Amino acid sequence: MGFMDKMIAVAGIIKAVDNPDLTKAYIDLQNEAYKLTEKLEEKNEQIGQLKKTLELKGRMDIIDSVYWLTDEQKKTIDGPFCPKCIDVDHIQCRVTPLPSDFHPGVRCPNCKSDFESSLAITYIEDRKKNGQRKVLGR
Ligand SMILES: [Zn+2]
Repeated sequence: MGFMDKMIAVAGIIKAVDNPDLTKAYIDLQNEAYKLTEKLEEKNEQIGQLKKTLELKGRMDIIDSVYWLTDEQKKTIDGPFCPKCIDVDHIQCRVTPLPSDFHPGVRCPNCKSDFESSLAITYIEDRKKNGQRKVLGR
């Protein structure tokens, strides 16, 4: 018997007893149960998102100051991503090159952090030139 079935069964007993105090207490309890069920669903959703982030982070490596997504053979398949956003905010945010005066640097458009990374610059420029994602070996 599931939780909701038990609540319905108890409601039937309370109705038969016909006590206003007991009925009110049951309704309060039922409202609390609904709120807790909603909270539980919300928490389960958060756990799912955190699991996804952890799984993704397990496939991320910091190379030359920024995060890269790697495959099973540890080959870079995507990036570069901001290390601060991944470590602190658990979001993947692609960094972009700083104006050429600041080379070899990249900036996160989300948190505005700058990182020195000639590998990131090379990768981004190659990707632009090739018009597709290039797989870099390590
Ligand atoms: Zn960032």
